[in-house]
Amino acid sequence: MRFIFQPGRFLLFALANFCLLNGKGQSRSFDIVIKNISIIDTRHARILPDRTVFIKDGRIVKIQRSRNCQKPEADTIIEGEGKFISPGFWDMHMHICWKDHLDEALYPTLLSYGVTGLRDMGGDLQLLRALKKKAAAKPAGSPYLVGPGPILDGARPIHADASVPLTIGNIEGVLDSLRKNGADFFKVYSLLPKDVLDSVAFYSHKYNMPFAGHVSEYVEPEEAVAIGQRSLEHLNRLEDLGRDTARLLQFIGIANRQQAWFCPTLIIYKRKNEMLNGHFEYNSLYQGLDSSLKAEWEQVKSKMESKEVAKADVASRNERFENQKRLVKTLYNNKVNLLLGTDFAGMQFVYPGYSLHEEMKLLSDIGIANFDILKMGTYNAAAFLGITKLYGTVEVNKMADLVIFNKNPIEDITNSTQIDLVIKAGQIVKR
Ligand SMILES: [Zn+2]
Repeated sequence: MRFIFQPGRFLLFALANFCLLNGKGQSRSFDIVIKNISIIDTRHARILPDRTVFIKDGRIVKIQRSRNCQKPEADTIIEGEGKFISPGFWDMHMHICWKDHLDEALYPTLLSYGVTGLRDMGGDLQLLRALKKKAAAKPAGSPYLVGPGPILDGARPIHADASVPLTIGNIEGVLDSLRKNGADFFKVYSLLPKDVLDSVAFYSHKYNMPFAGHVSEYVEPEEAVAIGQRSLEHLNRLEDLGRDTARLLQFIGIANRQQAWFCPTLIIYKRKNEMLNGHFEYNSLYQGLDSSLKAEWEQVKSKMESKEVAKADVASRNERFENQKRLVKTLYNNKVNLLLGTDFAGMQFVYPGYSLHEEMKLLSDIGIANFDILKMGTYNAAAFLGITKLYGTVEVNKMADLVIFNKNPIEDITNSTQIDLVIKAGQIVKR
């Protein structure tokens, strides 16, 4: 047979040699090597089969086609045959900064569900700082965390204990203090007057510190995105837009130009619906929850049970849920930036970790492609936070915050719960 030069073949040959030489020549070993695994590449909506992933010092340092590699040297070798790997998930709407030591029970649960990153959406700034300090000291035990400290609301805040009432008079001082004391962004809320919100936007641009949260009752959604609100939570205030297609499409145009993000938290609408129909979600995670959280849930439950539920309420709740689902689908069809979030501890009977997978199922049910759902929970979070150099994909130089699935979540999104193990900061945290 005549030898024909084929760049592809030459490259494979060179790679095979490289592998052998490295295996014998240098005295290096890896912390973890995952063999023969399929990488879920959400950015290109494809699966890369038969890869070997090398992890050292918390990072992915090498990825190769498995057939090119001889026996790798590592402290831990994982056989990935038949399994799938993706970056860890981000829950982009949680409330965890409201009680000391909450993380001790919460973090292991989150990690066991593959949640390796989270965005707190409002609580105590001192607690946020303490949690970030802990995460820096023990990255394998803590999800990556960002947060705003307290919620910024109008003169009479909806959640008085977790909010700072913001006025034109105190705005500079409050925002200065948050910015200088470790807040990652400003969380804006439903009752901020228009002039105050405008001032937050002005400050936010001046110091390059994003503001995100609810669309205020006192502005139109178009105004919120036009002045640069970075993320819109729960799609609140968008209901009216949902009933006016032309306006909705115009709004989406502005949102996309402004690169606004949306965190639908469909699970909260599902829960409200269920509760109104007398169903309260109890599962195996309930026992392990914080006692004050459980007390709050029980209080809401008995209040709802003691009230006569009008049929009209149930119908309007139902309609709201259906409307929200249609909205999300329209946003998705028009290529809006979407995030995955649950509103844990903001909404009753929403569970840490578990409910993020419920959210994925809801999104799949309305016709969002499974690749895109996983992308919302991984790459999109990193893109939103501006940290794609280190997070969001399974690639060389990225942090080894990873989930290995026993079954393919692209085939069926409920396989996202079929977790074999989770790796955080290069260490196995769940098996
Ligand atoms: Zn919330």
